[in-house]
Amino acid sequence: MKNTILLSMLCILFSCSSMSLPGVHEPSDAEINEQAAKAYLEVKAKSKLSTNKEWNDIVQRVAKRIAIASGENFQWETVLIDSPEVNAWCMPGGKMAVYTGIMPVLKTEAALAAVMGHEVAHATLRHGKQRYARAISGNIIGMAVGGAAIIGGQLLCKTQTCKTLTSLGGAAAGFAVTFFDRKFSRGDESAADKTGQIYMAQAGYDPTEAPRLWDRMSASHNGAAPPEFMSTHPSDETRKAGLNSWMTEANSVYKLAPHQYGLGENIK
Ligand SMILES: [Zn+2]
Repeated sequence: MKNTILLSMLCILFSCSSMSLPGVHEPSDAEINEQAAKAYLEVKAKSKLSTNKEWNDIVQRVAKRIAIASGENFQWETVLIDSPEVNAWCMPGGKMAVYTGIMPVLKTEAALAAVMGHEVAHATLRHGKQRYARAISGNIIGMAVGGAAIIGGQLLCKTQTCKTLTSLGGAAAGFAVTFFDRKFSRGDESAADKTGQIYMAQAGYDPTEAPRLWDRMSASHNGAAPPEFMSTHPSDETRKAGLNSWMTEANSVYKLAPHQYGLGENIK
């Protein structure tokens, strides 16, 4: 048992994605979503939520449209967190957050749809499922990581959200480490880009905004920790080439979508 914990912790630390552990079964969606919902409650309790009505309205309507476009039957929920972090995420099961720090970079509602489409796609495509098996199996790893986090949380976590959640230990700590400090494979990132762009178009937003957004994002994060969708392997050029190569398909989805909002409102 001790070895299993150690091995799993090493695996969490070094992200060995394909390794399976004896006696650790692949969790069901319901098990993962339950753990995600717990972590989400903690995030909400420990975060300052934004009172900016204009931004909240935009975030809520884009979240709703992307959720419908995805066709997933998740327990959707979205909050706008008042924080300078340039960040946004969607947990397995549809719990989302957008950070106010990203809003000025987005500039348009359609760009927010591109980001949320990408994050939602990671959730609907069940990316990283293997990792959650280690994190939530009987909460053993959660407790192990939680205990270790109290001693060395700063070492385990790269993001502020991860640090906040793991500093108190608890059942959601293991999930927090695997979710907030996650790195998806290059293939997963491409798939999330492609599916996200389709969601964006189906939700009624002009998909040509996606590659333009990536230009603005790469110009904005000089030196700071980049958000999830900027932090992995595909180079900006590879990513834009992908988005442009799927544009014909995305455009035909956009033209057939129930509504066409273009770029939506400007975000100021
Ligand atoms: Zn991503």
